Parts: sequence; C-alpha cells; structure tokens
Amino acid sequence: MFEFDEAMTDLVMRHCRERLALNPVVLDFGGQAQALGDALRGLMRPEGNEAADVMELFVDKLATAVVSCDSPRFLSFIPAAPTKAALLFDMFVSCSSLHGTSWLEAAGVVVAENQALEVLAQTAGFPRGSGGCFVAGGSAGNLSALVVARDTAGHRRGKEGPARPLIAVSDDAHSSVGKALHVIGVEALVVPTEDHRLTGRALRNALDHHPRVDDVIGVVATAGTTNAGIVDDLSGVADVAQERALWFHIDGAYGGAALFAPSVRYKFIGFERADSFIVDPHKWLFAPFDCAALIYRQPNLAKAVHTQDASYLAVLHSENPEEWNPSDYAYHLTRRARGLPLWFSMAVNGLDAYRDAVEAGLAIARRGAALISETPHTELVRIPELSVVLFRRPGWEKPDYDAWSASLLSDQIGFVTPTTWEGETVARFAFLHPGTTEEMIKEILATMA
Ligand SMILES: *Cc1c(COP(=O)(O)O)cnc(C)c1O
Repeated sequence: MFEFDEAMTDLVMRHCRERLALNPVVLDFGGQAQALGDALRGLMRPEGNEAADVMELFVDKLATAVVSCDSPRFLSFIPAAPTKAALLFDMFVSCSSLHGTSWLEAAGVVVAENQALEVLAQTAGFPRGSGGCFVAGGSAGNLSALVVARDTAGHRRGKEGPARPLIAVSDDAHSSVGKALHVIGVEALVVPTEDHRLTGRALRNALDHHPRVDDVIGVVATAGTTNAGIVDDLSGVADVAQERALWFHIDGAYGGAALFAPSVRYKFIGFERADSFIVDPHKWLFAPFDCAALIYRQPNLAKAVHTQDASYLAVLHSENPEEWNPSDYAYHLTRRARGLPLWFSMAVNGLDAYRDAVEAGLAIARRGAALISETPHTELVRIPELSVVLFRRPGWEKPDYDAWSASLLSDQIGFVTPTTWEGETVARFAFLHPGTTEEMIKEILATMA
C-alpha cells in the first residue's frame, strides 16, 4: 500500500476532475442511517476491496447523502465557495504530506502561511508585527485567543490576574464563545445588546453595575453575527476595553471577510484596535475546510501562553525571532498546512478578485432583500447588513417553515433552513456563493406562495 498505483491515481484524479468541473455543483440530499449503514456493511475486512468498488460506493451511496455546501443553492448556516485554485492546492498539500508545525521542519510552509496571514492582518488594519496561525475553525480560534486573554490579565494590569475571571460577551455572540469560556473556566458577563448589537455604552453600563467589575478581564465583540450578519459597535467597545485594560477579541469568523469589501468597510471601524481576531477563510474567503485565521496584535503574548514545553520539543525553540512556530500561537501542536490553499489562491487570483467576490456576495444579498420586498407573499425582517437576509412568510409557523425547507431540498431547489428571530421562526438566506443567481432566489421565493 506504499507503492505508487497508477490506476488508483487515475481513478481518484478522474473523480476530482469531474467534481471540479461541475457547474453548478448539485445540492444532493440528507441521509438515512439505515440505508447508509447497509451500504457500508462488510467493507472493513482483512483482505480489503478494489479501489474502484470503494470509490463507486462512496460516490453513489455516501456522497449523495451530503448536502453540497459549495452549491450556489446552499443558503443555510454559512455556505462555502472554495476557489478552484484553493481546492487543487489543498489536494497538493495532501499529496505532499505538508504540515506547518514548526520552523525547523517546515520553514517554506510557514513563510507562505504567514504571507497569507499578513494580508488578513493588513486588511484588518493591524500593525506590522502582528501575527498568529491558521487553526481548524473559528471555535478553535476563539478558544485559543481567550486562553491568552485569561493568562495575560495580570500582565496587563501590573498585578495578579483575578482568581475568578470574567469576560464580557453579548447575548448575540456565537455559541462557540460561550463554549470556549466554559472550557477555560472563565465566566461570561452577558451584556444585553441594543438591537442585537453590542455597544460601548451597554458594555460600560454592564461593567459599572457588576459587583465584580475588577474580575472582568476581556470582551468579545462579533463582526458579523452568524444569525443576522450584524457588526457590533467595534469603536465603542474598543474605547471601553482601552479604559479598563480589557483584552479585546473580535470574532469575525463569518463577517471578517467583509473587511475586503469597500462598500461595507465603514462598519468595521475599530476592528484595528482589537488585541486578537479570527476570520474563517473556509467561510467567506473561499478556502476549503478547515481553515480559520487567528491573529494577535502582540503575538509574543500568545507565544508565552501557548508554547508547549516538552523535552523532545526543546529543539524547536530557538531564540531567533524570525523562526516562527505556528504551533506556539494556539492550542495545538502538529497541524496541517491548512493556510496554503488560501495562500496559493490569493497569489494566483490576486487580491482584487477577493474584493470582487466578497462584494458579489453582498450584492446578491441586497438583490435578494429587494426581491423579498417586491414579492407579495414575503416580507423582509430587517435590512441586511452583510450577506445574511432574514425574511418571513406572513401566516407561517415553525411547522410550515420546516415542511417547506424539507421539500425545497428534496426538490433540489435550495437548502434553506429556518432560524429564530426575537422568538419568531423566520426564514434565513446566507449568501456568499458568487454563483447564486437572481433566478434561483425567485424560484425559492415562489415556493412560499
Ligand atoms: C462559524 C462561526 C464560528 C465558529 O467557526 P467554526 O469554523 O465553525 O468553528 C464562530 N463565530 C462565528 C461568528 C461564526 O460565524
């Protein structure tokens, strides 16, 4: 199994070519545990199977039970739209067993990943010298940043950090933020939002009324909530963070990509004042899974917190600041060179193409919102801020939305799942795929008549 197999290579490459050439990518379906279990029965056996048979099984039985998040009709959760260059280079990363753990082992990977991170840092307005690493997802990024917030609190205040620290979060923050705080043993100070936006005023008010205000060590703002695409009052939060020596982390997992879009750039004023931020290229920056960027204003703080000391690792850590170890900037050690597909695609396509593709997602969202308003039987819940559009079909309750969503998928018209907004079940479009057309939106809206 370690020898080059020409036939198996051709087989897999042929399937990759077919998939890359699909235009548009078909949606496909959900799965049934019974049927999927039956398809797999007996597969794991001492003597193995023909590669062609296993491939056929996967393509016919399993892949069809995966809703394609890169279909332009996938408008639920946060879709994906990886560039062809990024997908191809991801395959190359795999075939080359590239990893990006340390400078000693993988300097060529590290410089390329850091070049991509630098583009993101500069686009965010972060100063030279900021940096970090790519992690598996926004959840891992939030967790790793908040560990640094916790462990450097004492350093920030010139005294011991509190024994029972709190971090302020909005009640519209992503679930991964609450989970991360739970994992690291930090309590959440939940700040009520003003129209779903965390503001400096609300934060200051919550701090002033909190009996343990001195235990609050940080604040998390969201630049583009997942449910509605709302960007918090970043400058207001930055002011309060500065006044109170709080670590200011921005969760831009979804919306951070819009830093590339001149038409909405003004919403992100204050982003450049954070101590750390994340953005998921596997969402709106057109990279394959799993790719999240985690960037610190002062990476040396993260390094002091995250470096793993073990005797066999001592050789990795030199005193030369140019020798950057991505393993030192998050909770991980061995890591896939997951930033390289983004790096390759940015280098090949150019940064203007990224600006245009993000703007295209915003334009589709604006067009979608207009179509919803023009359609007699649908109603916009609010004007979209980024590319998430909430809307309702007056008269419908949750079971209506659920049944509609299921039939849209089974008819392969779209994958659109409902969400909850201020206690009401509503429909939600998350746009970002540049291939989503006005006709597709009209087709979906027509099914709600
Ligand atoms: C998607 C998302 C996350 C979680 O990112 P994963 O890559 O799924 O781990 C965190 N915050 C926000 C705002 C998100 O949209």
